[in-house]
Amino acid sequence: MMRVSRLIQLVAAIGLMGTVSSAAAQSPAGMKMYVLNSGSLSLGKGMLQNLGPMEPQIRIPVAFFVIKHPKGNVLFDTGNNDKIITDPSYWGPNFAALKPVNTPDISIESQLARIDMKPDDFNYVVVSHMHLDHGGNVGKFLKSTIVIQRDEIEYAMFPDAPFAGAFIPGDVGALRSAVGVSDPNAGPMLRLEGDLDIFGDGSVVVKRSPGHTKGGQMLIVRLPNTGTIILTGDAAYFRENVTKNIPPNIALAYEPAGIMRGYEWIRYMMASEGADFFTAHDPDVFKNYKKAPEYYD
Ligand SMILES: [Zn+2]
Repeated sequence: MMRVSRLIQLVAAIGLMGTVSSAAAQSPAGMKMYVLNSGSLSLGKGMLQNLGPMEPQIRIPVAFFVIKHPKGNVLFDTGNNDKIITDPSYWGPNFAALKPVNTPDISIESQLARIDMKPDDFNYVVVSHMHLDHGGNVGKFLKSTIVIQRDEIEYAMFPDAPFAGAFIPGDVGALRSAVGVSDPNAGPMLRLEGDLDIFGDGSVVVKRSPGHTKGGQMLIVRLPNTGTIILTGDAAYFRENVTKNIPPNIALAYEPAGIMRGYEWIRYMMASEGADFFTAHDPDVFKNYKKAPEYYD
């Protein structure tokens, strides 16, 4: 297992040498992207948005995404941990604060079943960051290669104050090997220190974007018909953050200036290759997405 991990890290390092541009991207026919949802959360918009209102609370979706590529299946984010369906105490005070929908139909298995998939069907699981609503179910993908920034997975286990509350130790702990095993990984993991062109054709590219958390990342998805879509994770919460350059609330921002740089990069991608972007939590935009089993191709 140790040798496999090192080989994977070496391959990742080679991948960093050249991030393919849109002009050179070879997005294969048959590529598809699906939008799924891990329920919703309730909060004051001002929790996320600089000077935004704290009342009334709004409900925000917890979107995650599936990309089918001829060379493998990719999951981008894993939603809220399914443990909260039967055990709300798994989230501690976060459960009462965020009031997540926790009915059985939002489990990761139920959502993937909408497109006849199950956790073992994924080659790669790209985690935007390890907050409770994005990295929740990573422990159900130990046969997939988890793709995460090295500083994010390390930070998630022991964050700086005051940022610990949104990381659930059990979510990270599910990726650790058994006590006494020398390799720390319970399954394959790419711990990146930058970007990665997953299939080498420019169609699915991990983009490092620290800001919301220490080692956040976005995903560039270049579809053959739809074109380029950037999956932002929480690098942008709402569409207007990017289009109106609205700063985040610093309460959940590890490095606020990094978030602003993330917006700028998204706008560059919009200007340079006509990219669109999908956030995880914008309720107004989310309702207009095609939902699985419908797809973008
Ligand atoms: Zn989030």
